[in-house]
Amino acid sequence: MATIPRILNPMLDRTSQGHNFGLFEDLTQYMFHVPFLKAQCPACFFPSVGEGKANLNVMGVGSGAGEIDLEMFSQLHLKHPAVTVDNQVVEPSAQQLHLYKVLVSQKPNLDYIKFTWNKMTATEFEKHWRENHLTKKMDFIHMIQMLYYVKDPGATVTFYQSLLDRNGKLLVILVSDESGWGKLWRTFRTQLCNTEISQCVTTGDIKAYLDSKTVSYQSYKLPSQMDITECFTEGDQRGELLLDFLTEVLDFSSTAPPELKRGVLDLLKTPDCSKEVDGRVIFNNTLEVLVVDPLQ
Ligand code: SAH
Repeated sequence: MATIPRILNPMLDRTSQGHNFGLFEDLTQYMFHVPFLKAQCPACFFPSVGEGKANLNVMGVGSGAGEIDLEMFSQLHLKHPAVTVDNQVVEPSAQQLHLYKVLVSQKPNLDYIKFTWNKMTATEFEKHWRENHLTKKMDFIHMIQMLYYVKDPGATVTFYQSLLDRNGKLLVILVSDESGWGKLWRTFRTQLCNTEISQCVTTGDIKAYLDSKTVSYQSYKLPSQMDITECFTEGDQRGELLLDFLTEVLDFSSTAPPELKRGVLDLLKTPDCSKEVDGRVIFNNTLEVLVVDPLQ
């Protein structure tokens, strides 16, 4: 079966809040995020930034446990063994930061990277940056599956873009507008997208924002799919968890009004969201990468 890149992770946060999400762990074992990205998006790993520089300023916003960040650095190091890195990590979750630090401590030969840990949200970091009148320019900033969690994704993109050096790049990855997520969110925006935790933002929204500001960027689709067949079996534990994941509603199956539940299940089965393969329902989980240029 195709890999499932990490999708949204408020469910992970809920795990840490004491809910029993053993099953969710079961789901996460299917997420081969790093190999997936490596195979499908070589450009994600340091698009030609900072050519010729001896030291690169890098920033990960919402880096999670840092698996992707460290893989990016190891690719960079292979190509440019003499380059050193100043890496700012902006990550509000203490648990994720801890996991990142553990990963760093386990990997040998990371001496060429200087880590600065910022236990902050993207917005808190922006405030910190402004209050301290910091002026350092960045060669590479990435926000991978993160912009769902900020109040104003457009303003966040613009602020971080303003930190880029002349040849810097800002990498954004989100689900694409044409994915099943896009259709689900457009159809049930009022019912599913009014939470405090996350916005139903796709790369379509970010591209429209960038276009309105005549900002240049490149984009790449990352086709990806997810088997959601169990969602349609009443009482199936994995199916119910998947439904929670898709709707970002805890215990959706038992808490959603019946007409909403029916509407969501019907929509998930339509060609706008899924295709049927050998009797399985395969959800379109296509992601999109935007590589954004600096402000002119
Ligand atoms: N980039 C990582 C993790 C993605 S999950 C990867 O792709 O593997 C989203 C991450 O964003 C989580 O680690 C979460 O703690 C973090 N996050 C949530 N709200 C945030 C915010 N307001 N600002 C910055 N990061 C945030």
